[in-house]
Amino acid sequence: MIKAITGTKDILPSEIPGWKRLESFVNTIFTSFNYKEIRTPIFEETSLFARGIGEETDIVGKEMYTFADRSGTSVTLKPEMTASVVRAFIEHSLGKRQPLNKFFYISPMFRQERPQAGRLRQFHQFGGEALGSTSPLLDAELIIIAFQILTSLGLRDLTVKINTLGVHSSRENYKRMLRDFLKDKKYMLSDDSRKRYDTNVLRIFDSKVESDQEILKEAPILIDHIDEESKNDFELVKDILINSKISFEIDPKLVRGLDYYTKTTFEIISGKVGSQNALCGGGRYDLLVEQLGGSPTPGVGFAAGIERILLACENEKSLSLPDDNIDLYIIKLDEDLSSKAFEVALEYRKENLFVEFDYLSRSVKAQMREANKLNARFVLFIGGDEYKSGKLNLKNMATGEQQLIDLNEYSKLIDLVRV
Ligand code: AMP
Repeated sequence: MIKAITGTKDILPSEIPGWKRLESFVNTIFTSFNYKEIRTPIFEETSLFARGIGEETDIVGKEMYTFADRSGTSVTLKPEMTASVVRAFIEHSLGKRQPLNKFFYISPMFRQERPQAGRLRQFHQFGGEALGSTSPLLDAELIIIAFQILTSLGLRDLTVKINTLGVHSSRENYKRMLRDFLKDKKYMLSDDSRKRYDTNVLRIFDSKVESDQEILKEAPILIDHIDEESKNDFELVKDILINSKISFEIDPKLVRGLDYYTKTTFEIISGKVGSQNALCGGGRYDLLVEQLGGSPTPGVGFAAGIERILLACENEKSLSLPDDNIDLYIIKLDEDLSSKAFEVALEYRKENLFVEFDYLSRSVKAQMREANKLNARFVLFIGGDEYKSGKLNLKNMATGEQQLIDLNEYSKLIDLVRV
């Protein structure tokens, strides 16, 4: 039997209401902050991600789905969205139309990671990107948007973590200090961390190996060594979060995996999803647009993992989704009336009523059971003596009340059912 590829997941009809609820919050909340939706292709030229995210990152180094198409061009299924948004922003000169562009998206992403709970190879993210301003108001705004979407879904066990990496030069300075500090301890580091020492030293902070963390306890602290401008911006972000009543922790180890981050970084963590506990992450990337060939344009953004968020909702039992309530179930008292039932159903469906009837030649009793199972608000009986005199019996399932309506009196039934 052919099965779905490891690390991919079907989203079954029973799960769709949760997805739709989440997507509707994403739409309304981003729109209320004047972010505009953007959709970009599923695949891009590989060099976009290699240049944008950084050759030495885990994503580019070992996780991308990269292949040559028939013309030999190396293409990659998008592992994250920021590089694609920035590519589209540059390609369509969006910065020339208006100085500040705010985008949001919902899209599948692809990373060849080791699958485990909360970690897939095709997963979905929503996120926002604001391009064109260095104002820390936008950093705070994006944290607030992410937080608002998560709390709208009823999530409560959330921790907001923030940090600042400083401008490029102060981050580079710090990296040098960190390398100096680790130089004579390098031999004690785990294999991965030893590799990162040369390629991406900040990422050693992400190590899950206890002895690595022990060594890092004495390491110089990034926040003590960053530039004044970044410090001031960070203070403002903190003030806004305090005024917005969003509690947060400062996590000096929050360096994030990608190369392009500068200044503010943040993550929102759930206490309810196990070890893969980051629901969302983001930060400022003031150099990325220039790095990808555009004119210098500051930016800030975040991405949130939809599967993980829905898992958190399930574990917190935070989403109460109403059962589907079908408006009308048509019951045939005589199997010969199938075509008539189809015709009547069609009339009401044209009016966007949610209508169903039996296609399986089931008994009247079985049809009634089905109507109950579907939570039908009204049941319409076709057949019997009433039908011979051109009438149908309509039953309100909540009150038990019944009334006769003329076969062709569609509008009357519609009025009754719509209330
Ligand atoms: P990142 O783009 O790595 O900062 O990830 C942002 C968010 O996407 C994370 O906080 C997760 O919620 C989600 N995410 C990242 N990688 C995966 C994955 N392999 N499977 C499921 N969700 C993921």
